[in-house]
Amino acid sequence: MSTGQDLYKKAKTLIPGGTMLLSKRPELYLPDLWPAYFSKAKGCKVWDLDGKELIDMSIMGIGTNTLGYGNDEVDAAVLETVIRGNMSTLNCPEEVYLAEKLIDINPWADMVRFARSGGEANSIAIRIARAASGRDKVAICGYHGWHDWYLSANHNGGDDLSGHLLPGLSPSGVPKNLKDTVYPFHYNNYEELLSIVTNNDIGVIKMEVIRNFGPEDNFLKKVRDLATSKNIVLIFDECTSGFRETFGGIYKKYGVEPDMAMFGKTIGNGYALTAVVGKRSVMEAAQNTFISSTFWTERIGPTAALATLNVMERIKSWDIITSVGKKMQLGWQKIADESKVAIEISGIPALSTYSFKSDNAMIYKTYVTQEMLKKGFLASTDFYACTEHTDDKFEIYFNALNEVFATIAKCERGNHSVDSLLDGPVCHSRFKRLN
Ligand code: PMP
Repeated sequence: MSTGQDLYKKAKTLIPGGTMLLSKRPELYLPDLWPAYFSKAKGCKVWDLDGKELIDMSIMGIGTNTLGYGNDEVDAAVLETVIRGNMSTLNCPEEVYLAEKLIDINPWADMVRFARSGGEANSIAIRIARAASGRDKVAICGYHGWHDWYLSANHNGGDDLSGHLLPGLSPSGVPKNLKDTVYPFHYNNYEELLSIVTNNDIGVIKMEVIRNFGPEDNFLKKVRDLATSKNIVLIFDECTSGFRETFGGIYKKYGVEPDMAMFGKTIGNGYALTAVVGKRSVMEAAQNTFISSTFWTERIGPTAALATLNVMERIKSWDIITSVGKKMQLGWQKIADESKVAIEISGIPALSTYSFKSDNAMIYKTYVTQEMLKKGFLASTDFYACTEHTDDKFEIYFNALNEVFATIAKCERGNHSVDSLLDGPVCHSRFKRLN
């Protein structure tokens, strides 16, 4: 057993659920065999606790590091902050510079609040929007974090959030009197949203602008018009989509502006910083309620974000990662076509994913991860692009993946036993309690 798996076994006795983020649970990749922990990360390479070097062709820190791990320019700015002092009784000026920069990027917005996680930014936005609208009820579409306000949707009558990224989220511990405060609607289903808004006193609509598929039939514009006509605060959650197709929100591609938007993940290239931007008329409501936290004032987050935005703007990182993602999607499709294995690709290029169209899909997915790990890759069926995913990495990745698909093709044709593929258990596909 690897040093990482040994440590993970201990972790599960000390940390309920093993890790702080569901998406970093080893069981989601390769139960009992995933390296689990890193000792070093640079560019798109990660070293495990046994010093094994791996090329990360998977989720790149769950999409945080579009400029690669340990980007030199961002790290230099952060190190300067460490030397000069990260914390003090006074505030750091970088938060004001960053607020100005974010308003430049989002000209419809006038004010900004900062936090350190996407879930926090979402909770802040909901609090402000409820305060501004004077109404409690919220319509949502997408994943917006772990907080009570969001998970309470699963009190309404089952697994209402299952169509919104993560199935099986249990609202245990979330007060039941929050039932019927959050109403999920499906992407591109305007009639459903209209019915929710007509039948409930909705004050806020919060949505991801795009996840796996784009808007159809003027969907975003219709949502905008509905929100405007009913005096509803419209919030775009760009925690994941932001800075992957434009210098800012992906909303810019569709010409529809929200009243508030959240950014996270990419904005600090791995350092913690999330932002809520919004119109003055909405954001000023933050003064009528209490939103305040110690570590929202530390200096590394805004320092890293300013440096990251500089690099992104200079090299147009969103163009680079979009073409990197397209390369990946084309490569997957080519390998699948040549080996005659049916797959379905989805996602914007910079956040690409595929699934096997087979009853054995989860076994094949696990097998890909298992075999690619043996060949020196962190790989799954998800790929989050970064600027360090250069052609040389792709060449060896596709050569390796070709061999893996060849075996899967044999299984699909009945010339190879599916049961003999895996060295350990099949990967988990959803949130569940760990043993
Ligand atoms: N909103 C969206 C759209 C997200 O994708 C995520 C994270 N996957 C979050 C919010 C929550 O962010 P965090 O995990 O930093 O709390």
